[in-house]
Amino acid sequence: MSGQQELLRSLPAVDRVLREEPLQRLLTQLPQDVLSSAAQQTIAKFRGKLLDGTVSKDSEQLKTRQIATAAAKLCQPLLQPSLRKVINATGTLLHTNLGRAPLAPEALQTIASVAEGYSTLEFDLDTGQRGKRHSHVERLLTQLTGAEAALVVNNNAGAVLLALTALGKGFEAIVSRGELVEIGGAFRIPEVMEAGGVLLREVGSSNRTHLRDYQQAINEQTKILLKVHTSNYRIVGFTSDVAATELLPLAKENGLILMEDLGSGMLCDLTPFGLPYEPTVAETVKAGVDVVTFSGDKLLGGPQAGLIVGGAEFVKKIARHPLARALRIDKLTLAALESTLRLYLQPDQLLQKLPIMRMFAIEPEAQKQRCQQLLERLAAENLPVELTLVKDFARVGGGSMPLVELPDWALQIRPSGESVDRLARRLRSFFPAVIPRVQNDCLMINLRAVTEDEEGLLGQILMAGIRGEV
Ligand SMILES: *Cc1c(COP(=O)(O)O)cnc(C)c1O
Repeated sequence: MSGQQELLRSLPAVDRVLREEPLQRLLTQLPQDVLSSAAQQTIAKFRGKLLDGTVSKDSEQLKTRQIATAAAKLCQPLLQPSLRKVINATGTLLHTNLGRAPLAPEALQTIASVAEGYSTLEFDLDTGQRGKRHSHVERLLTQLTGAEAALVVNNNAGAVLLALTALGKGFEAIVSRGELVEIGGAFRIPEVMEAGGVLLREVGSSNRTHLRDYQQAINEQTKILLKVHTSNYRIVGFTSDVAATELLPLAKENGLILMEDLGSGMLCDLTPFGLPYEPTVAETVKAGVDVVTFSGDKLLGGPQAGLIVGGAEFVKKIARHPLARALRIDKLTLAALESTLRLYLQPDQLLQKLPIMRMFAIEPEAQKQRCQQLLERLAAENLPVELTLVKDFARVGGGSMPLVELPDWALQIRPSGESVDRLARRLRSFFPAVIPRVQNDCLMINLRAVTEDEEGLLGQILMAGIRGEV
């Protein structure tokens, strides 16, 4: 027998692995062939490891029971929802990895009613004929922004790509070097422009761009002047940039399209909540920007969507482009977006109805009390942790307003018998998972993004997690 064959004899056969308890237990939930193939895959993986020497033939990992356990783990994603609820105790409100904005109850109801049956998605009840998907939000968006026309697509990255492609393909768009944003993932403005067949003409330097830079770059190939909100970074110090309002005369003189990607895009002023002033979408439109794009699930507090508002001729051209079909918004998103936008018609009720607004508005003193109550609840249990009420900051998140720190409080948990990472990992294994921030060897529990309904459950999970019960 060759050395290799000898080596492979240390692996168990599939049917032996299948007879082990971890896989037997799954037989009531999964068909036999699924379990067999998981066992085969696991054995194959260890065969590879044996052959390349990453596992030795006497390793514990090769025991039949261990292989069955690994195979059972491979089946877990088939048994429980992978995309599921978590409690966001990070203090980051529009946490992109945790799904950005929580939706308003109105939006949830509309989603449910549209999802469970048929709808007017592309049907006009007046004429009984085919209708337009965008019609459901266009009137709301033109009302709220003052724009002539509006269109919605899958997300803002798509909105920027679509608008640039439809309006500038084969031509040049001028952008400041200070605004060549990378949003995360693969969304980089220069690459988006390239994908859209638009030639990028960078002007100015990273920290300073002047009106004359734009002026000098204009030539017969120029079609668009593009402003991009530097959502997720700030250039500070010796800086200057050119506001859209200053670019407007230049665009008009030269027959160019002035486009602005606002990133977050706000429909109302958020300074009352201690957030910095930024022009709203309506102000941007009023200033004369031809095409404005922004996200549905950032500061707007709605579902993932890309909103495009602007002059009717531009929006029409964008809507007719084939990419618009590829990037079209789905009906559940549209339902949520329409409900969310409608809330903005009554700004005085926004605070009550839109979760993200409520989170912005929470007073630090109220947060302190909530954290104190949670602390007392946990302290009464004699848990092996040190609990402290500490000053903290909440953040906007979602790549918006990176420098903003909303004064807040947090419950700091310092485990005494184990590492903070182990405790954090255990908290993530609950349903719902609890996601705190890990900072200075402690868990920070910030309640700004935790609803009152979730608070009781959060306390229970923390207790069980700290005690080691999963
Ligand atoms: C967030 C952001 C985008 C991307 O928006 P999504 O809705 O996440 O696709 C594009 N541009 C800017 C400036 C942004 O801040």
